[in-house]
Amino acid sequence: MQIETFEASGLSPEILKALKEIGFEQPTPIQAQTLPHLLSGNQQDLVALAQTGTGKTAAFGLPLVELADPSTKSVQGLVLCPTRELCIQISKDLQSFATYKKGLNILPVYGGASITPQIKDLKQGAQLVIGTPGRVIDLMKRKALDIRDISWLVLDEADEMLNMGFKDDLDTILTGTSGEKQTLLFSATMPKEIAMISSNYMNNAIEISVSKKNTTSSNVNHVFYMVQAKDRYLALKRIADLQPDIYGIIFCRTRRECKEVSEKLMHDGYNADALHGDLSQVQRDYVMNRFRIKNIQLLVATDVAARGLDVNELTHVINYNLPDEAEVYVHRSGRTGRAGNKGTSVSIIHSREMGKIRIIEKKGNFKFERLQVPNGKEICEKQLFSLIDKVEQVSVDGDQIDEFMDVIYKKLSWLERDELIKKFVSIEFNRFLEYYKDAPDLNQNVKERRERDTSSSDRGDRNSGRGGKRNGFNKRYSRYFINLGEKNSLNPAKLIGLINKQFRNEKIPVGNIEIMKSFSFFEIDSEFSNSFPESFSNLNYQGIPVNVEPANAKPNGRDSRGGGGRSRGGNSGGGDGGFKRKKFGNNSNKRKWD
Ligand code: AMP
Repeated sequence: MQIETFEASGLSPEILKALKEIGFEQPTPIQAQTLPHLLSGNQQDLVALAQTGTGKTAAFGLPLVELADPSTKSVQGLVLCPTRELCIQISKDLQSFATYKKGLNILPVYGGASITPQIKDLKQGAQLVIGTPGRVIDLMKRKALDIRDISWLVLDEADEMLNMGFKDDLDTILTGTSGEKQTLLFSATMPKEIAMISSNYMNNAIEISVSKKNTTSSNVNHVFYMVQAKDRYLALKRIADLQPDIYGIIFCRTRRECKEVSEKLMHDGYNADALHGDLSQVQRDYVMNRFRIKNIQLLVATDVAARGLDVNELTHVINYNLPDEAEVYVHRSGRTGRAGNKGTSVSIIHSREMGKIRIIEKKGNFKFERLQVPNGKEICEKQLFSLIDKVEQVSVDGDQIDEFMDVIYKKLSWLERDELIKKFVSIEFNRFLEYYKDAPDLNQNVKERRERDTSSSDRGDRNSGRGGKRNGFNKRYSRYFINLGEKNSLNPAKLIGLINKQFRNEKIPVGNIEIMKSFSFFEIDSEFSNSFPESFSNLNYQGIPVNVEPANAKPNGRDSRGGGGRSRGGNSGGGDGGFKRKKFGNNSNKRKWD
């Protein structure tokens, strides 16, 4: 059964009044399905495939607020969610639904904050508790939270809770509640682990899925740029440079990639910072706040870390790497094009990822447009016009500047008008001209790549001497540095073993190996280079933390470290969030592109 109005759902007048004030006029599709089911007193469990933006919070929140009994102080409903931000958001939403329902206490409990006040608040009584799994378990252990007799258990963003490693905590919580309760599970994706939770802990659950069409707004333009994997970062910079007023999130797959990209951007003078799981709660709040108030233009984030961030005015979402699941792409892109604004979802891909693009198009029911990575001239033009616009629009404080004007006129009187304009514009613009002088074409041409793949006999020759049959003759190889060498008793066999282990024994093609005294170089099939260095993070070899970094191709037989476009150092990503640069603020921020 579905309803068309909130009035038809059976919600009480107090809650309808609150909804009117909040501005909810009509149930969203997911609310139209869940409200009649839950409000009818039907005890059947529920599994809903729904993402942020579908109105899922109200889909479970309204029935909870409606049905909770304010006359008893004990916990009746528990909502579990992955992050503190979401926890606070859900609590706020539920509190706003409950504005006119007297005596109902809704309490958020989350990690990263002192537990004592939370224990105190729980003692005063809360009928609905919204919590992150770790903190909920802590509170259960301290006997501050008793969930044995709850009537409703909601798992919100269940897939993210699993991604964040809360599986054991969820098991503990689920087994700590009575069989009488009703369980409601909401998840943006349905991996098999979620199906397991449903089959282990839920009874004959009714399944609801809201159409993906609701989540990909027609206000979002989906585009991709095709470049070689090694040029991903350079392409990112050009994309950012083409949009002087960009305000967006750059999604990376791993914390490490996130750190690397943000560090490089900051080092190269962009207004960027990172948001990932290695930051403390205080650091995360700090970065998010700076992004919200637009002190940061580009936020480099992992999917999980960006969850709690609700910003409506993003001009761009950039997929530095495409996610593995189409749903995640749809979710990411739904962060732009909100509240009536237009937005662009950009993906930087290499030619082998066209298959993924097609899958996403099918799932999301939209078409991508391939764009050419802009060349230096296009970027310079765009930046120039943006600069001129700014000159036109800048407000001039007449009184302040007037007292200097005489001196300024005198000093510049020898210049013609044309000359003068050129000079003023050049102050800002020279950097771009210089930076993009002779900038190469970054676009990857599929045909070109195929030809290169099949004609690279030199590569094949170079590799034929080692690794036996595992080395292909038509492969392109990427070269890497590793901080282990002879003195760590590394030899080619051990190195190949190490590489295979990182790829779960997938046996990837390995090219040249050069073992030096305290470090080494090796090559692997470029096809695997995308996720390659990251896969070594957290690895120890004989007690030494392993460090693998891209290295330049071997120039004339000499070894060289450092990859094209890699720039290390500069401001560090998280930490105190100490971002100090302002985009193009001064000459010391000169950009580097190779
Ligand atoms: P959610 O998917 O719960 O994160 O909700 C996404 C956004 O939609 C939030 O800003 C909600 O306040 C808003 N929203 C949820 N339900 C409705 C509704 N029935 N009418 C208008 N806005 C809604």
